[in-house]
Amino acid sequence: MGVRSKKMKILVINSGSSSLKYQVFDMENEKVLAKGVVDRIGLEGASLCHSPSKGSRHIITTEIKDHEKAIQLVLDILSDKDHGIIKSLDELEAIGHRVVHGGEDFSGSVLINEEVMEALKNNIELAPLHNPPNIMGIEACKKIMPEKPQVGVFDTAFHYTMPEYAYIYGIPYEYYQKYKIRKYGFHGTSHQYVSERASAILNTPIEELKIISCHLGNGASLAAIKGGKSIDTSMGFTPLEGLMMGTRSGDIDPAVVSFLIEKENWTKEETNEFLNKRSGALGLSGISSDFRDIQDQAGKGHVRSQLAIDRFAYVVKKYIGSYFAIMNGLDVLVFTAGLGENSSVMRAKICQDLEALGIEIDYDKNFTRAIEAEISTNTSKVKVLVIPTNEELMIARDTYKIVSKL
Ligand code: ADP
Repeated sequence: MGVRSKKMKILVINSGSSSLKYQVFDMENEKVLAKGVVDRIGLEGASLCHSPSKGSRHIITTEIKDHEKAIQLVLDILSDKDHGIIKSLDELEAIGHRVVHGGEDFSGSVLINEEVMEALKNNIELAPLHNPPNIMGIEACKKIMPEKPQVGVFDTAFHYTMPEYAYIYGIPYEYYQKYKIRKYGFHGTSHQYVSERASAILNTPIEELKIISCHLGNGASLAAIKGGKSIDTSMGFTPLEGLMMGTRSGDIDPAVVSFLIEKENWTKEETNEFLNKRSGALGLSGISSDFRDIQDQAGKGHVRSQLAIDRFAYVVKKYIGSYFAIMNGLDVLVFTAGLGENSSVMRAKICQDLEALGIEIDYDKNFTRAIEAEISTNTSKVKVLVIPTNEELMIARDTYKIVSKL
């Protein structure tokens, strides 16, 4: 790495269908120089909210007809003389993009070129809601800054190491060959980040650790990470599999789906909406997908809110048990994402009665939120950690690594 690379400023972009989040990192110290979000792209009332780390938040409301306009607006504000953090775009060395689905093509982050774009487009079928806006973000950057290197960081890539017997489903093999139907897993960047942090916090090489990482946000998944490699994860072909989530059902008997299609006369879209948007904690509680509301209501005696909490914790616990089994033990249990980082109630409920697996949490230490903390008792065989995730930093690091070698 040359002197130049030490001065790297990396723009990280997470481009969704109608919103685009960004952060700029100074890789010399990995500090965030600015972050922000463009909301309601292509819709009425679009806006950009820009927060430099030094200085006050700045909001622009204007027409933002597409992703290209959104990126242009971000670049303008980043180099704005009053609110910006760079003098000119020359200071940005590269752009790192979050890409949801890498399919079977990517085992790690890559420099984006024509071939990669082709592969991304071929994977649209696997993530029809997520990959197209990711691609739009990349194409917009390419158009505005054709000379800047761009790197794709995939949600699926960390799980590339799963053995075939873990990712294959028990359906005729030709459907895997024909349509690539298999478990892929998601939240990989987050699982990788927290597992690497766990190894650093415990000052133990990751190769020696068996880790279960619990990413519990609105979307939620667990990963079994042995020697730094994901060997199984709870999300599957799509993010619908696994835990019950904010609005997703998670694992159910697949026969329920055809039963309901017949009874309710649903279309494919209605069925998907039911499973992805109307189920989970929202569907069970009947009041909200947000566990803050659900915990509030449960505290006031709302029975179905309590049921949603009990069910969520129960399913997480079952996955912890099964991942303990497939790794033949456990050294570290990590909680991350909105619920994992903030809810001491949920962490306590999940960890309750797990002494048989060597998991004991200290209820005083567990009373923590949004910071790195060890919450296990001194005698607990398994270390239980809370680690705020940082997918953007992970994307910036991978981008830095790849671009430094150019
Ligand atoms: P995502 O990125 O998947 O949208 P987050 O990781 O931001 O989700 O997590 C959001 C969820 O975290 C909220 O829906 C809420 O259920 C939960 N959450 C956040 N803060 C708290 C809290 N203090 N107590 C309980 N749950 C919380």
